[in-house]
Amino acid sequence: MEISNLIYLSEIGAFAIACIVGCLILALKKKKGFFKVLGVSFIVLLAVLTTTFVLERPSIKTDEITNIEVKSGEKINRPNVYYHFRKTNENVRIKGNIDYDKVGEYDVEIEVQTLFGTYAKKSKVNIVDTKSPVITLEGEEDFKQSYKEEYKEPGYKAYDENDGNLTEKVIVSKEMVNENDYNLIYEVQDLSGNEEKKERKVIIIDNVPPVITLNGNTDMTIFLNEKYEESGAKAVDEIDGDLTEKIEISGSVDTAKEGSYAIIYKVSDSKGNEAVVQRNVSVKKKEIAQQVNTSSKTNTPTSASTVKPQNGSNGKKGVIYLTFDDGPSNNITPRVLDILKQKNVKATFFILNYNSEGEKLVKREFAEGHTVAIHGYSHDYATIYQSEDAYMSNITKLQAKIKASTGYNATITRFPGGSSNMVSKYNPGIMTRLCKLIVSKGYKYFDWNVSSGDAGGAKTSDDVYNNVISGLSKSKANVVLMHDFSSNSKLLDALPRIIDYGLANGYTFERITESTPMVTHRPNN
Ligand code: ZN
Repeated sequence: MEISNLIYLSEIGAFAIACIVGCLILALKKKKGFFKVLGVSFIVLLAVLTTTFVLERPSIKTDEITNIEVKSGEKINRPNVYYHFRKTNENVRIKGNIDYDKVGEYDVEIEVQTLFGTYAKKSKVNIVDTKSPVITLEGEEDFKQSYKEEYKEPGYKAYDENDGNLTEKVIVSKEMVNENDYNLIYEVQDLSGNEEKKERKVIIIDNVPPVITLNGNTDMTIFLNEKYEESGAKAVDEIDGDLTEKIEISGSVDTAKEGSYAIIYKVSDSKGNEAVVQRNVSVKKKEIAQQVNTSSKTNTPTSASTVKPQNGSNGKKGVIYLTFDDGPSNNITPRVLDILKQKNVKATFFILNYNSEGEKLVKREFAEGHTVAIHGYSHDYATIYQSEDAYMSNITKLQAKIKASTGYNATITRFPGGSSNMVSKYNPGIMTRLCKLIVSKGYKYFDWNVSSGDAGGAKTSDDVYNNVISGLSKSKANVVLMHDFSSNSKLLDALPRIIDYGLANGYTFERITESTPMVTHRPNN
């Protein structure tokens, strides 16, 4: 039997006892007035107590039943009821339609059954969602990424037990950790506002090796017993910058013995990414080498590698051809011209398109006996190497302008980037075709075999000076690459010293003319 039923019985019992005692007292009422008063008081007290018992409504505490986790499977606890000085949840029922799988506020009625009737109270039940969605990252949480490549999201998913797929609601933000590395923050909220956050570390690494560019030809032929001149190489790393000084050169050429020799150029960047380039040197008997040289000269000027010493009357061994690219500039070119004038040295200017100020300088170059040569109307690789036509119009346009300024028909050219450039790779084979084409149209082109580095690696005047001095050789025609563009003031200090060094060491200075044998690289494209 339930306790509450016992209570009901005791209530009935108390009522019955009160009636019996009341009747007994009434029976005694004839005896004395005192008992009469006592008896009536007792009856009244019992009646009041009984009425209270009968009329008392259960007090229902409703705050115990709200907020039930959705899909938890748990059912509403019957709330406690305070009734007849006791706390109980027996004979308590919850009435109402509640979907336990769905978040929401539901109206219910709490019903308490007592012996004296049924009592009900309105209340509310909240089915709530307090569980956060789950974010799953695909790919590594510590993501290593080459600085060269663009970040490619490996993917992510967000799922909420109640709201389903929330992937589209994920917000991804970026938080820099240092100059290179960053965290990607993935955040999502479900429909009830429960948040979830995940992080992916993106670590930027350098796994790109430096690029080694050989000075001179990658394939060389020299004659038996001739000296092999190491023309060196340049190395540039996108992160570390110029690494030319760190290049290790190994291998040797035995010029007393015919054969093929490999010179190996090796350099590593600060992250240990290594680049290796090989130069092939073949040592041949003179007659054979000459045959190769002359036969190729007639057909393909590109392979007539004039890095080798020239023969005959045009033999320009020990000559220094100073060449200045990318001018004229208002601040550098006049001072270069001043220096050349003072030293009585003639040079060659491979110029770009110029304005009226520049025209004065072009006229001065010409008037002072230098060679005005064509670099291009534009220097923009993406434009000029688009097609043969684009390149040809790039030189003819400037040629016409030079003619108008000076009366001189310039036919000496230098390809922007050199004939060995790789920047034209977007148009495969264009350099190989252009090298033939422009020669067939009566132009000559000149690359270089001594690089001052003044447009790249050289940081000071001393660097420029040393780069040139170390590249000079008495056994070749030295074509020295320099630049007279406006930001190149370090050239101005180096140039007089270079000329002094050359003159003091038995070199002669000449400008390039129409009869100067071409000094060319080998096209790489
Ligand atoms: Zn240039």
